[in-house]
Amino acid sequence: TTENISEKVIVITGASSGLGAAAAKYLSAQGAIVILGARRIERIQTLADEIINNGGRALAIATDVTKYQDVKALVDVAVSTYGHIDVMLNNAGIMPHSPLDRLRVDEWDKMVDVNLKGVMYGIAAALSYMKEQKFGHIINVSSVAGHKVSPGGAVYAATKHAVRALSEGLRQEVKGYNLRTTVISPGAVATELPDSISEEDVATGVKAFYESMAISPDSFARAVGYAISQPADVDINEILFRPTQQV
Ligand code: NDP
Repeated sequence: TTENISEKVIVITGASSGLGAAAAKYLSAQGAIVILGARRIERIQTLADEIINNGGRALAIATDVTKYQDVKALVDVAVSTYGHIDVMLNNAGIMPHSPLDRLRVDEWDKMVDVNLKGVMYGIAAALSYMKEQKFGHIINVSSVAGHKVSPGGAVYAATKHAVRALSEGLRQEVKGYNLRTTVISPGAVATELPDSISEEDVATGVKAFYESMAISPDSFARAVGYAISQPADVDINEILFRPTQQV
């Protein structure tokens, strides 16, 4: 177990895959209690069972982050079961890249709903408890695309820039409640994220790029662990990391 991680109650959205699942395994192995949210309940239940079989503590709750009631219920279950919430990890996201002139308005809507509004809902659900508690840590997942824009990724980058703006505003506003806020911006990490691309030519290009350099999701899990494990008076505001080979 690790000091400042052990015994912490950590809610993770998008825990059924990729970065969220890796964080859940890493943090639970260090003694944290993890509450896993995602739409695919079988996946998070299997992960929770695996964590429990390894001596950890975990709960799986079906959650669609585009529904505020779902996100609120996820956090409510964490607090009613364990008495409080230490960390809200707003990780769920999708990346259906396409050039704007393909007019995939349906996918633009989904990206805003999951990547931006989902994070807002996570903040809303956790903040009501954290204000009362006078402790807590909200960690939002942005991206290298929250710092730079590439062709085909305009809307995704817009949502990820927005997550950084939101996180910075949150950071400034919650001083009075003794809350920590961190935004983590990963580069290419090997997950199912490129599977969300429906335009075939775009998917082929992005997948080739990922296959050439994407790093293990453990990189993300360690970054989360670093931010959480700091002493309570240290707030890691932002972490930006990439594969060593990524421009
Ligand atoms: P994955 O596709 O592997 O995982 C995405 C997760 O988000 C899944 O658990 C999925 O669960 C969940 N999710 C998607 N839509 C919803 C929804 N409506 N409600 C609840 N959960 C949802 O991708 P990653 O692990 O890579 O992505 C995690 C985060 O990391 C995202 O925000 C992504 O933008 C960000 N990121 C990833 C990078 C990478 O290279 N991998 C780089 C930079 C940032 P389910 O489908 O079961 O609901």
